[in-house]
Amino acid sequence: MRSDRHPGGIRSRGLRTLAVPKPIIAAPRRGLLVAALVLAGAAPTAHALYDPAKEYVETPPVAARYPDPPIDIPTPAFKPGRTDFTSQEELIAFIEGLAARSADLRVRILGLSQEQRAIPLLIFARPAVADGGEIAKNGKPTVLMIGQQHGNEPAGGEAALALADELSANPGAQVLDHVNVLIVPRANPDGAYHFVRGLKNGADVNRDHLLLGTPEGQALGRVFVQYQPEVVLDCHEFGVKLRWFEKFQSLQKYDALIQYATVSNLPRPITDASEQVFRQPLLRAFADAGLTQSWYYTSSYNMNDRTVSMGGVVPDTGRNIAGLRNAVSFLLETRGVGIGRAHYKRRVYTHLTAIHSILASTARNAGALLALERQVRQEVATAAGQGELIVSSAAATTRHTLDFIDPQTGDDRQVEVDWRSALDIETRLKRSRPIGYLLPVSEIRAARRLRDLGATVLRLAEDASIPVERYRLTRADESRKDDVRRNDEDAPTNVVQIATAVEPAVVAAHRGDFYVPLDQALANVVAAALEPETQSSYAANRVLSLPRFDAGQVTFLPLYRLPARPNAAALVWDGSAP
Ligand SMILES: [Zn+2]
Repeated sequence: MRSDRHPGGIRSRGLRTLAVPKPIIAAPRRGLLVAALVLAGAAPTAHALYDPAKEYVETPPVAARYPDPPIDIPTPAFKPGRTDFTSQEELIAFIEGLAARSADLRVRILGLSQEQRAIPLLIFARPAVADGGEIAKNGKPTVLMIGQQHGNEPAGGEAALALADELSANPGAQVLDHVNVLIVPRANPDGAYHFVRGLKNGADVNRDHLLLGTPEGQALGRVFVQYQPEVVLDCHEFGVKLRWFEKFQSLQKYDALIQYATVSNLPRPITDASEQVFRQPLLRAFADAGLTQSWYYTSSYNMNDRTVSMGGVVPDTGRNIAGLRNAVSFLLETRGVGIGRAHYKRRVYTHLTAIHSILASTARNAGALLALERQVRQEVATAAGQGELIVSSAAATTRHTLDFIDPQTGDDRQVEVDWRSALDIETRLKRSRPIGYLLPVSEIRAARRLRDLGATVLRLAEDASIPVERYRLTRADESRKDDVRRNDEDAPTNVVQIATAVEPAVVAAHRGDFYVPLDQALANVVAAALEPETQSSYAANRVLSLPRFDAGQVTFLPLYRLPARPNAAALVWDGSAP
């Protein structure tokens, strides 16, 4: 059953102008915790497949640099004597306990993983409500914390449970007077069970935020569509030894690596707020807590490639897509992959320090943040048909000095590396920003994905001749998806590298064809999906049906851009959803 908030079947003359559209959403699988427990019982049971024998053990001088903080964390993995991580059954039971004692908490099951494990969403709001539309009316900004998109990065998920425990405390956390808090403690429960990075099918859910090709990606998509969070914190862990040791004979040093959204077409006020309102206080919070931090960086698993890159500039990660959804969005990573339980309390404490700072900044700036959000959404929508759209870009290459530690002595060590900076994005291709896109009725798969992202998608109610720009294919090569980290244990993702020439035409459009206006707040998400040249695009990933390319033939994509507002009198739009 789908709840369709868009007026179905209406016919209106001219292009519909929707500055801030109501999302067209698919209702989530409504489940009770009881149902989740039953489902969890049906899945492979009990403790995860984490094997401490496979993990790296630091030398005593290295380990001594990371003392545990003197705090108690009341989550399952910190019960006395525990040597592994919180299981799915413990996670569900823990959440049930919180729900029983907190008046501010509602719990929903967002969906099921590929191995049928429940993915819970915790909704803290005062007064308590579960529905996104209701929360939007309470006049407070909403912060979303996502844990464990990668199964072998448990500290973010544990911190999510610890935060939920704090917010459930009686008489209740004061921050809920100013902020709504959403928590997805475990976005990838199958990966957590198998203690691997990827999903059951090997895909990386943190590269699925635009494509929504996995059940787990779709579950997270529903949170964004239904709750439209103003602030997003995506919690991960980074590798301590693997490839840093092989390439630089060193171990990672910092407690935390952080980065906000860095992607083309991101509204400037979002970046400014991320830096001034959130990152600066966050750096002070880390320093006050005795924790070290740096910008996030990673490196390829190709041991001959010594380039170190900041987090990517491609519109596919949770961090970047949340930014294009006009949210302030942070990636937070702690020093934890490959060292098992070592420093686990410190790693969870690092995430908690960050989320406390982010919540405090949100609460302090609640009104300004909501106003900024309204303004940015409006500006993105009104930019339709004006100016330029960046289609593809790359991080600039420079040199950078990295701080590592010596694996034996634990001493500081500096290494100069080739560095790709996501703070300096170079444009590779840009085009005029269209007023919208037209998709033939045959492309219903792409239309549905856009709808799942929360974009407004309309249908043509009558046949019409429409002046458009069409995409002539000039190149379509199968290739492996390029990623700043490129992990060989991940399933390789094949994409089609596409190049096109855009040329004017008049298309005979038909009743039922899809029109995706850019005068909507999600315009930059829509453009990321539909402009074909990036490796994240619907064409590159064959969500759009890709014609057979033959260099000797003239071939067009089943996709058109509308360069300007057409003669409105000729067009009738049907608002029913695809
Ligand atoms: Zn991760």
